[in-house]
Amino acid sequence: MNAEIIAVGSELLTPERVDTNSLWLTQRLNELGVEVTQKSVLGDDRDRLAGAITGALQRVPLLILTGGLGPTEDDITREAVAQALHRRLLFSAEICQWIEEIFTSRGRKMAETNKRQAFLIEGAEMLPNPNGTAPGQWLDLPGGIVIILPGPPREMRPMFEDACLATLRERLPKLHIRTRFYRVAGIGESDLDAMIAPIYKPYANPVTTILAAEGDIQVHLRARGDTAEAADALAGELGNKILAELGERVYSTNGDPLETVVGQMLRARGATLAVAESCTAGLLGGRITEAPGASAWFLGGFQVYGTAMKTRLLGLDEKRVAEHGVVSEAIAIAMADSARDRTGATYALSVTGEAGPDSATPGIEPGTVWIGLASPEGVAAKRFLFPKGRQRVRKFAVQTALNMLRQQLQ
Ligand code: AMP
Ligand code: MG
Repeated sequence: MNAEIIAVGSELLTPERVDTNSLWLTQRLNELGVEVTQKSVLGDDRDRLAGAITGALQRVPLLILTGGLGPTEDDITREAVAQALHRRLLFSAEICQWIEEIFTSRGRKMAETNKRQAFLIEGAEMLPNPNGTAPGQWLDLPGGIVIILPGPPREMRPMFEDACLATLRERLPKLHIRTRFYRVAGIGESDLDAMIAPIYKPYANPVTTILAAEGDIQVHLRARGDTAEAADALAGELGNKILAELGERVYSTNGDPLETVVGQMLRARGATLAVAESCTAGLLGGRITEAPGASAWFLGGFQVYGTAMKTRLLGLDEKRVAEHGVVSEAIAIAMADSARDRTGATYALSVTGEAGPDSATPGIEPGTVWIGLASPEGVAAKRFLFPKGRQRVRKFAVQTALNMLRQQLQ
C-alpha cells in the first residue's frame, strides 16, 4: 500500500528548520509494509494545503499530515482538511474541557485562542495528546484514511505509536519489507552502477537505491512480500547476485563503517596501526578512533602538516623532501615507513596530498593525494586524483587509506 505525508509549517520552508517528522514516519510506515510514494512540505496557507490534500487523496489511500494544529491563526491544518473534504468543523466541548484541564494542572488559565484546538473535523476521531494541548485527528473516508498529527516531534511520535500504530497494523493489508544494506569502497558511484545496474534493473521488487558519499557507497535493497519469508527470499536472491558481482569491494553487509571493519581485522590478527598525516592532519586518526575499542589496535601517529614537522617528528631528510616534493611517492613511502618504525606498529598509513582549492605545491593538481602503506611485507604508495573540493579530497583520502589497509589485510 502507498501513503503520502504532508509536513505543514512555514518554518519548514526556511533554512532554519528541517522536516524530520516525515523521515521518522516513513520508517514506521515502511515497517508496516507501507511505501511512502510522495511527501510534501507546505507553508501555512489554507487554500494551497487544501489543494495538496485533495491531490494526495486522489493518489493514495493513506495520508498523514503533521503540524499546524496549534492554537494560533496560522495553524490551518484542521481548516484545510475540512475544506478539502467539504466537511464542517465541529466544536467539541469535551476536548475543550480536556484542554482547559491541562492548563489548570499547570496552574494557568486557558487562552481563548486555544478553543481553536477543540474543533474536530466532521466524522473524525480525536487522538489524545498526553504531551501537549493539540489533539490529533483520525478520519476514516470511504476511500482511505487521513491522520492529522501535531508538529512537535515529541508530541507527534508518541501519538502515532500509541494511538495509530495498532489500528493501522490491523487495517492494512499484510505486507512485509526486508532489506539488505551493503557498503562498498574502492569504486566510483558511476562505475558501481554500471556494474550492478544490469543485475538490479530487471527487479521492480526489491527496489534498489545507491547512496554515495566521499569514497563510500551504500547499496540498499528493499523487498516487499506477503510474508516475511517471501520478502527475505527476494532480498536475498538479488542481494547475493550483487554481492557476487562486487566481490571484495563490499566491506560491510551489516552497516558497520570502514574504520570498524578494518579495526576488527586488525584485532583478529593481533596487529596494530599507526598513521602519519599531512593533508588530512588528524582526520584519519579521528576516523580510526570512531570505532569503539580502537585502543586495542590504534597506537597513534604523527600530524605532520608542514615540512618542518615531517623532518622533526618523522626524521625525513629535508633535502629529500625538497628534491621529490612533499606530495610524492617517495615522501608518502618515507612517512609510512618512519611512522611504522618509530611507533613499532604492525602497519602504518601515510597521507600526503594537495587538498586545494589552490595548489601550494607547483605542478601538483589539487586533489592529488599519495597514500602510503607500510607493513611487514614492505612499503608502497599509490597516487590518487580525487574530485575537487577541499573537504571532499580530505574525506576521500581518509576513506581510501582505510580501504588500502583493508585490501592489504584481506
Ligand atoms: P505546529 O504543530 O505547526 O504548531 O508546530 C510546532 C513546532 O513543531 C514547530 O515550530 C517545529 O519546531 C516543530 N515541527 C513542526 N513540523 C515539524 C516537522 N515536520 N519536523 C520537525 N519538527 C516540526
Ligand atoms: Mg506551525
